[in-house]
Amino acid sequence: MRYVNGVVLKGRNELAISATCPVPDDIVETGAIIRPLIWSPCTSDAHLVQTGAESLPYLIGKALGHEMCGEIIRVGKDVHDFKVGDRVIVCSVMPIWRSLEAQDGHAFQKQDNMYGGVDYPDRGGSFVEEYYIRDADMNLALIPDGVTLEQAVMVPDMMCTAFGGVSELNPSFGDSVAVLGIGPVGLMCVRALYLHGASRIYAIGSRKICFSVASSFGATDLVDYHDTSWTDEIIEKNHGLLDGVLIAGGGNDALSNALKMTKKGGTVVNLATYFGGRNIEIDPASWGFGYADKTIKGVGCKGGRLQMMRMARLIETGRVSPEMLITHTFHGMNKVIDGLNLFLNHDRSLIKPVIYND
Ligand code: ZN
Repeated sequence: MRYVNGVVLKGRNELAISATCPVPDDIVETGAIIRPLIWSPCTSDAHLVQTGAESLPYLIGKALGHEMCGEIIRVGKDVHDFKVGDRVIVCSVMPIWRSLEAQDGHAFQKQDNMYGGVDYPDRGGSFVEEYYIRDADMNLALIPDGVTLEQAVMVPDMMCTAFGGVSELNPSFGDSVAVLGIGPVGLMCVRALYLHGASRIYAIGSRKICFSVASSFGATDLVDYHDTSWTDEIIEKNHGLLDGVLIAGGGNDALSNALKMTKKGGTVVNLATYFGGRNIEIDPASWGFGYADKTIKGVGCKGGRLQMMRMARLIETGRVSPEMLITHTFHGMNKVIDGLNLFLNHDRSLIKPVIYND
């Protein structure tokens, strides 16, 4: 085992660059080692910093990070589709494809990465100098020519999560859908809904910069959740309840607000993360007292090579311009901490930061 530098979580609001991140000398035959070229910190990384990973205590002492693209520096002998020198997108949520969950159609429920990676808990995240993965052919995707690193690093979580969520909602052409919370994932949901044929797309947020990107991505209505009766306003504008709602933020009332706006028989897809320590409330009336046939789906990031290849093609063909999410660009591993601090300080000019490893 060797140890390399990484951005390590030491405790509540405590991060350090530390040369304690393990890279095995012997990699599995399907595995690969990747040298990061670009990272992007995420709200969920910031949440772990803020809480000292109280919901996932085994992450203390390990590197954070799950959004990264890099260059392959080593492959095992059973890796068929990738070679040393390839520039790749690395899965954010890395399914274990040889699992019963995968055979059951829920590959994302058995993960090999840091957040659910209790099967291999030593590794930690991808804010490291060298990152080891165990299933290169299934959990990497080549960065196509003409796709920049900044665009590519928006694939593993922002695009895979949002487009996966919209696929789960599966709106019909012409449906009216709201996106509650227009941070980077919510904004990508707006674009995915537009491409999926939704007619009215209500983008619910509060920050000017996010409204501006939402408009560019295809939102038809921009709604500020500081307006006290915003849910009623949407229902009125829509001349009735919505076909579906995606939750990508919105706090403790999110589920009640989403259910309230959704028609009988409609679907709410949740993409927000609810860490432990509190209950989530549902107002019974919003849910038709339990009888309104409204479905709630809790969906995580859809990882895997195929999903990432599809996302990369959307960028390559100009259908999606994910670089519009990037508001801050840094260079050097120590700047990952600056990037995370933007989230922790609730910087209102932030959508997504990226950090080049140079
Ligand atoms: Zn993320």
